[in-house]
Amino acid sequence: MSNLLDDLNKKQKLAAQTLKGAVLVLAGAGSGKTRTLTYRTANLIAAGVDPKNILTVTFTNRAADDMKAKISKLIGTDIINKMNLGTFHSICLKILRDNLKKVDRSEGCLIYDTTDSIAIVEDIIFDFDLEETKYDPKTVYNIISKAKMELVNPNYLTEKYAQEDNQWSEHFYKIVSRVYNEYERVLTNNNCFDFNDLIKKTIELLEADTEILKKYQNQFKYIQVDEYQDVNHSQYHLISLLVKPQKNIFVVGDDWQGIYGFRGADISNILEFEYDYPEAEVIKLERNYRSSNNIISASNQLINNNIQNKKKEAWTAAADGAPIFIAGAESPLVEAKYVCKRINNLVDFYNYKLSDIAILCRSHFQSIQLQNQLPKFRIPHQLVGGVSFFDRQEIRYFVNYLKLLVNPNDRLALKRLFRIEVHGVGEILLSEINKYARKNQMEITDVFESPTVVKGIGNNKAANIIEFQRRVIDSIYDLREENLPMHQKAFELYQRVDFDKNVLAELDDPEGRKKYMNMFLDDMADFQKNNPGRGLYDYLLINKLISDKDITEDNQEKVKVMTAHSAKGLEFPVVFIIGVEEEVFPHLKSLEEKESGQNQYAVEEERRLFYVAMTRAEKLLFISFSKQKLSNEQGQYKQIMPSRFLYELPDQRLDFTSVESKKGGSGIQMRKNVEVI
Ligand code: ATP
Ligand code: MG
Repeated sequence: MSNLLDDLNKKQKLAAQTLKGAVLVLAGAGSGKTRTLTYRTANLIAAGVDPKNILTVTFTNRAADDMKAKISKLIGTDIINKMNLGTFHSICLKILRDNLKKVDRSEGCLIYDTTDSIAIVEDIIFDFDLEETKYDPKTVYNIISKAKMELVNPNYLTEKYAQEDNQWSEHFYKIVSRVYNEYERVLTNNNCFDFNDLIKKTIELLEADTEILKKYQNQFKYIQVDEYQDVNHSQYHLISLLVKPQKNIFVVGDDWQGIYGFRGADISNILEFEYDYPEAEVIKLERNYRSSNNIISASNQLINNNIQNKKKEAWTAAADGAPIFIAGAESPLVEAKYVCKRINNLVDFYNYKLSDIAILCRSHFQSIQLQNQLPKFRIPHQLVGGVSFFDRQEIRYFVNYLKLLVNPNDRLALKRLFRIEVHGVGEILLSEINKYARKNQMEITDVFESPTVVKGIGNNKAANIIEFQRRVIDSIYDLREENLPMHQKAFELYQRVDFDKNVLAELDDPEGRKKYMNMFLDDMADFQKNNPGRGLYDYLLINKLISDKDITEDNQEKVKVMTAHSAKGLEFPVVFIIGVEEEVFPHLKSLEEKESGQNQYAVEEERRLFYVAMTRAEKLLFISFSKQKLSNEQGQYKQIMPSRFLYELPDQRLDFTSVESKKGGSGIQMRKNVEVI
């Protein structure tokens, strides 16, 4: 037993050995919080706790996979599948799948992503004859989403959000509350959940039925949460429900790294843990194992500029290491070239592999120049969390056929297929078909059988619709009955609807897209091989939940390009942070929010994000900025200042470089109080 925890230091061990009660491990980046949580899980099992009685929540699916791999190394693989280890979303989905009837859903129920949800709202706004200028679908969806995240039901929307004594605001929220009501009805009818439902419906299920609540409280006797600083209100609520009455809760986090405030996360949850659980034990880890002393000292000095902070100590046995390289460039292009040259240099002369290197940016938009330059310097890269494989147009199109195959109630998928496949029948006629079906209590596909019953549909249009019904809808319905492995079913469907001819040929670059379609079909075959008992339904659900999953063409060594947000919890020997400029990092929105008094801590969240970015680095950290930035999609540039965060770093830990363009031009220096020239 003692051997298992020998890989931990004294404090970490203390945490991993505290098996009962409430425990908060509060510590800075790289201090081994995730490691401690992983070892504690193994320790619980070694101490005789049944793996199915442990609920462990991670922030991303990647983190869950990492943790599973480590635990199985520590105590064997057979227990992995018995554990409840995953993100809030995946754990809630499991609970909901076991109780579908109770939450008004049935077998085949799938998940809508944000794009799907906005499309539903758009259809409702169209059906309700609302003006899109006043009721922008995205804005309306965001309000609904926020309400769902805060567990506010349609009837309370106005009360909760409308400005007092403001007639327009009250009117607006009344209408939005009607849309919200209808949205919920459509989701139920279509037999789908949106992302927010996963948590909200689970809470409703547990609150409505004490027997079910007791069952899960009994099952999850030990609850553990990683990245606790980014738990939002509904997730917090869910945990509080489940943790009673045993109160065995073990959370780890770092208030300095709370970066999802904009999505409703609330760092007061971690700051107030001791109020929620007065008997809680608080363990602080102070030794950092990840980064060089220069990186730790500089990032600590940066974060201490925040007022909203718990005091923490951090030290390392590591040497100072290389200084942090700060580089200013004339333009994003020069900056991108600088990064590429540095990377080649590190690989050619310093033995780094491409996979040791990550390039972090505030938002993907900023990395455009870099994405253009990397191939020119022959540096293969992987864009993490950008437009993913599953967001490719042809894949999204094809997924609609598959969705209908598993969930015949998904009218959104049906409408999308109609829009993709049936030419010459516009939105208004589609809406007429819909209305006709509803009025006559028919299925919309029944109307497709004899479309001329709808006013405005002549023989030509009708022929197109009937052909669509035969070739696509009937194929889907027939295939549903057939007993084939899922990848074969998908392939069969691909052929029967003649996707190449009817869909791909209508898009640009059909040959290129066909390659991706083949990769997609191969991925399904792989999934089937690795998960023999599971089917198309699981495949679609899992891909929806795992937003960071991506299919790449080969196993080539690659540098990773990602946002600082998606780098949370990860570590790399070499990190570049690019575009470190005012209005970019800190983001313009945060500056505006602070300026307008809307959120005085908005810039603090940006600083925490910058702290997260810096602390991903183990050995080398390069920070760069440019004198100009792309100000709009038309390619116009504007002058810009280096980020305030650079001035908050201690000079003695830095090394300044100026990067000149080939054409000459002025070199750029960055010293405290020295303007960029
Ligand atoms: P973050 O806040 O960024 O999520 P963290 O506190 O979760 O960081 P970990 O990722 O658990 O930190 O650990 C950082 C690195 O330090 C990992 O590579 C981990 O294996 C290593 N590490 C942590 N504790 C020890 C230890 N006691 N001995 C050796 N290595 C350790
Ligand atoms: Mg961690």
